[in-house]
Amino acid sequence: MLVKQIWTGNAYRNFNYLIACGETGEALAVDPLDHGKCLKAAKDEGWTITQILNTHEHHDHTGGNDAVVRHTGAKILAHRNAAGKIPGMSRGLSAGDVIKVGKTVELEALDTPGHTLCHICLKSHTDQPALFSGDTLFNAGAGNCHNGGDPGELYKTFSQQLARLPASTLVYPGHDYIENNLRFTLDREPDNRQAAQLLGKLAGQDPEQAYVSTLEVEMQVNTFFRLTSPTVIAELRDVFPDLPDQPDARTVFIKLRELRNDW
Ligand SMILES: [Zn+2]
Repeated sequence: MLVKQIWTGNAYRNFNYLIACGETGEALAVDPLDHGKCLKAAKDEGWTITQILNTHEHHDHTGGNDAVVRHTGAKILAHRNAAGKIPGMSRGLSAGDVIKVGKTVELEALDTPGHTLCHICLKSHTDQPALFSGDTLFNAGAGNCHNGGDPGELYKTFSQQLARLPASTLVYPGHDYIENNLRFTLDREPDNRQAAQLLGKLAGQDPEQAYVSTLEVEMQVNTFFRLTSPTVIAELRDVFPDLPDQPDARTVFIKLRELRNDW
């Protein structure tokens, strides 16, 4: 499996991806908003885009579909419940569905509601798994829920699916938010040394050569996986004095999500 991360350089800081089979050169484009950059990258690599996967229905993820289809005839794949929201879908995906790319690549669809209610993450069937996490999981952060989402569903996705993936899983998110997110981590958990070190290393990074985290790193620096940290809970109580003595993880997650909205 070959992966090319494409930095759009736009105001939304989107990352697009090409995932290709090294034997046949067939490629799947994930959220190819910047169709020009995606088509050029495929051409430069000698790859043919045959499929598009939209992680979800927001325009900054689907806005490049028409142009890519026009140039390549690629088929559009997305969550089965996105059929009324994403024009021209050829295949609706459910949890566990496998997408083949060429001869060597298999990607498994995870049904990951929360940012929206029809969001798909892709997990590769490779020795070291890769997760294409759209707007569900960001480096050191979580997707927002104010455009068709639900924080309770997002919590379930994090705790029941993402947290159970292998620690070595590579994380390829839909946006470059890492610097801002690490600052949020340090605001919520000022004694998080790993987050401070990572911010020191990455502040001002060139998103063309972006750092790729693993789930193991996310467990250390992503507040949305650190729901039982005494510091996170104590700091949260300063903001929400009504927080129970031993708040359950779901409550902590939802309060953090609420706080991140106006941070
Ligand atoms: Zn979105």
